[in-house]
Amino acid sequence: MKLWEDKVKKTKSYISKEYLNEKNILKLDENENPYPPSPEVKKVIEQFDKDTLKRYPNTDAIELKSVLARHYGIDASQIFVGNGSDEVMLLAFMSYFNSDKPVLFPDISYSLYKVWCSFFNIPYEALPLKNDMRINIKDYYKKNGGIVFPNPNTITGIGEEREFIEEIIEHNKDVIVIIDETCAGFGGYSAIDLLGKYDNIVIVNTFSKSRSLAGLRIGTALAGKHAIDILESVKNSYNPYNLNSISMVSATASVKDEKYFRETTDKIVRTRENSIKLFREIGFEICPSKSNFIFLTHPKASAKDLYEKLKDENIFVKYFNLPRIDNYIRITIGTDEEMNILIKAVKKFI
Ligand SMILES: *Cc1c(COP(=O)(O)O)cnc(C)c1O
Repeated sequence: MKLWEDKVKKTKSYISKEYLNEKNILKLDENENPYPPSPEVKKVIEQFDKDTLKRYPNTDAIELKSVLARHYGIDASQIFVGNGSDEVMLLAFMSYFNSDKPVLFPDISYSLYKVWCSFFNIPYEALPLKNDMRINIKDYYKKNGGIVFPNPNTITGIGEEREFIEEIIEHNKDVIVIIDETCAGFGGYSAIDLLGKYDNIVIVNTFSKSRSLAGLRIGTALAGKHAIDILESVKNSYNPYNLNSISMVSATASVKDEKYFRETTDKIVRTRENSIKLFREIGFEICPSKSNFIFLTHPKASAKDLYEKLKDENIFVKYFNLPRIDNYIRITIGTDEEMNILIKAVKKFI
């Protein structure tokens, strides 16, 4: 081994590459939206003046922020935009979590929280969820360097209500509490109504799931003006040009088309409820989901075997080979037709 290799960061990729070259697969593992983006998005991309690509994008994202501000009923100065929620979240960790006390998050949650903490040498504690897969709220009353949790939970789909979220914030007013709402948008509570009340909460959101724009990489953070200014200045210190111009106009068009957003997310919620019913009929136990996926286990079947069997049929679902959840699979809600194909394959196995 060369000397320099002792000092490099060694990491592993989050994304499994096993299906990247395959066509005709049913991909239900990454919580993508089965429906295309709004026709308004397609229109602005078609009409986009390509000659303007020689210019840097508008660094303030003024139009997108003002449309978002109107949509959420907040001020444009309370909005940060970035390349996907993954980037926004990484920036938030870098900007807000600099204490020698540990950052707290649930053990069963987004796997990259740990990765970002390690990158920035942030001490952390992954606190076990209770047996019902819910947060044990008293764990979050101790001294800490910040809090982050997904709502709905990115693995189980379980979403908490206002009272619960507010209780965590009330006990942690001198640190930043990041509420990861990347899996929100399919019914369920969003803490946006708490932004006026607390200046230490940061809500991270994405256009990848409920708005069908995973390919354009658009994420947002919503917070008080002061917290957003900090995020902006950290970002601008090393990369002032961020969201590209095509993503910006597309995101703007998507937010303006509220009707399409409602229609497609409502459809997914209906398919979700119907799928839950069908899986229950064949003996599965399912966490109550507020997102576009379900997390389930079967008392008499091996989740790992089911995952492998489905893979053999070119159906990809998510299996986490982790303690406590190694007999569960997570299934993204597709179209009704896709779910029928899946359920047929699952029935064959069960
Ligand atoms: C999809 C997803 C992401 C990635 O979101 P991007 O905005 O596409 O970067 C992050 N966290 C969770 C929990 C997700 O499900």
